[in-house]
This record gives sequence, structure tokens and C-alpha cells, in this order.
Amino acid sequence: MKFADIPGNAALKMSLVQSADNGHVAHAQLFAGSEGGVGLMLALAYAQYINCENPAQGDSCGVCFSCIKIGKSVHPDLHYCFPFAKTKRVEDDELNAYLPLFRQFLADSPYGTPADWAELAEFENRTPIINIKSVRETMQGLQLKAYEAKYKVQIIWLPETMRTEGSNSFLKLLEEPPPFTVFLLVSDQPEQLLPTVVSRTQRVTIPRLDDETLAGYLVSKFGADPSRSHAVASLAAGSIPVALSLLNEEVDNYHALFMEWQRSCFRNDLDKLIRHTENFQGMGKELQKTYLKYCMDKVRKSMVLSAGGIDALRLQESEAQELINLGKIFSLPLIGLLMEQLETAYYHIDRNASARMVFFDTSMIMANGYRTLRKN
Ligand SMILES: [Zn+2]
Repeated sequence: MKFADIPGNAALKMSLVQSADNGHVAHAQLFAGSEGGVGLMLALAYAQYINCENPAQGDSCGVCFSCIKIGKSVHPDLHYCFPFAKTKRVEDDELNAYLPLFRQFLADSPYGTPADWAELAEFENRTPIINIKSVRETMQGLQLKAYEAKYKVQIIWLPETMRTEGSNSFLKLLEEPPPFTVFLLVSDQPEQLLPTVVSRTQRVTIPRLDDETLAGYLVSKFGADPSRSHAVASLAAGSIPVALSLLNEEVDNYHALFMEWQRSCFRNDLDKLIRHTENFQGMGKELQKTYLKYCMDKVRKSMVLSAGGIDALRLQESEAQELINLGKIFSLPLIGLLMEQLETAYYHIDRNASARMVFFDTSMIMANGYRTLRKN
């Protein structure tokens, strides 16, 4: 992976390159980003850059032996540590046994989320963690001298999944690092790391991809339609995998789905609400979150519209009319309740609650809200 292959973050790439060019390669760096972002790929591009035989113009060459091996994740001096749980797909319960599957994950979904990894590896309901055994395997692997690279690179994906025992062992490794070893910690939730771990790393903050950059990436890399890419990017909140699944989904359907849901709550139509619940369940976690965000946005817009602010929103006429109609029955307490319920639902889905229960409970409370709080 070259820096040039990764969307956005021009300033950050430049600062990584410059510090490496000046010989400042900190032995432990924390790539702090968010789910579905470019953190892991940036770490790999950085590993490739510092070991490239012919770097030029602020990037690795992509064609030397080192670049090719790092690109395929088969370089003997590039090590991975990542969370896993027991799965039928892998016989041994050791980090190394999971490596082929992890390489496949990197190749198939370079910006994949922890949920994508869990799905590919079929962890099912077990929570993947970096266990103490993996930390010990990692320590052993690093005792050996570098085979051929300038720097041995140890990538640790999702260090926040280490439990206390693993974190403490890992801390010792950070305190007494083997020479010419660079630790690249790639975290989606850096706030969950032990402060003692964080304080031993140099932080590389990775900003969320802005909508413009994400839309441009969808157009240039996947040939997506520009106006659709913009619509998708504004919903994806900087997450590449969410944007990609939205490209394949009928985003345009969200509006119809949202209106139908609210109508069913309004009429307290239990049969339809059960059908909506099944529909929601089938979306999968990331799309469920995106859909809930979309719904919050619509509730907000219908308020603006009913207050006469139609020009401020770029909506199609039919969509605007439907939202205006909805706004006519929205009282302030009802709006408050809908927003609160959507936010609560989002919170629970994000923490892996049962989608079926969350959606159905939310619908019931909303239906009750429509009965008691709507304008006449
Ligand atoms: Zn190279």
C-alpha cells in the first residue's frame, strides 16, 4: 500500500514522510482513528515507506522487493497482532494460525471494520480480543533479528481489545523494545487504552475523511455516479465500508422506509411494525446505525420545513411535501421524544444489543408518543 493509494489526509501523510526522512522514526506510534477509517492502511503505507529501497516524491516506490512483500503482507519483518476468538475456520488457537485469514481480510477489505473481520472469520457471538498468549507470541517473534529490513515493524490492530493481563505484558515490551523495532498501534477507540500504554507512544491522530474526499474516492476508485456518491458520503460519516455498502443499497429507499415506519407508528399498526422490525434486523449493524442517523436527520428537517425553511434544504418536491405533512403533527414534546428514542436506539445498536428488541421497543414508544403528544 502506497500513501498515494489512500484517500485524503495529505497533510498527515506529508508529516509522516518528513519525520521519517529526518530520521525520526519513533519506536512506538499510536495511529488513533475511527471505525471504517484509513488507520490500518496508513500504518501499512508508513511501514512500507520506512523500509522501501527507493522512496521518491514522498512515497514508497511500490515495486522494490520490500514494497512488494509488505504489499502482500508476507514480509518476514512485518508482524501482525490482532484480536480473534475461537472459530471453526481455524484449528489452532494461536495468533499465527489466524494469519492467513487476516491477510485475506486485508486484501479483501482494506478499510474493513472489526465487524467485517468478525464476519469473515466467523467469530459469531464470541468477542474477539488480543489475548495474553498472542502478546507472548508477539514478544517471541520480535526477539529474532531483522531478516532483511531496516526496521522490524510490529502492527497491533485494535490494541484496545487487550485485557488487563495482556496490556501489562505489552507494556513491558514497549518499555524495553528490541532494537530497530517499530510498534504501530492502530486503534479505533484510543480512549479505551491504558494511559500507561498511550503515554509510551507518539500519537498520530487520523481525522475522519470529509464528505468531499470520500465522495471523490467513490467516483475515482469505484466509478460511482458523482451525485449518488455525494448523497452516500453525507450519510457515511467518513466510513469507507459504510459508504461502499450504501452504494450497493437502495439509499433512495430510506426515505420511503422512514415515512412508512412513522406512518405505522402513527396508526399503531402492529403487523406493519413487526415487518419493519424484521426489515431492520436484516440490515446488519453498520447500516442500522446509518439508517437511524438518516431518521434523526429527517425528523430535524421536517421541523425546519414546517417552520417555513424549505429553501435551506435541497430536497425533491415530493419528499419535501411529505416532510411538511409530518411536521404538521409534530409538537415540540413529540420531536423531543422521537429524537431521544432514535439516539437511544443508536446507542444500543452500537453496543451490540439485539436489533430486533431495540427496533421494536423504539417503535412502541414512538407509537405511544404519536397517540399522546401529537398536534391535533
Ligand atoms: Zn519500494
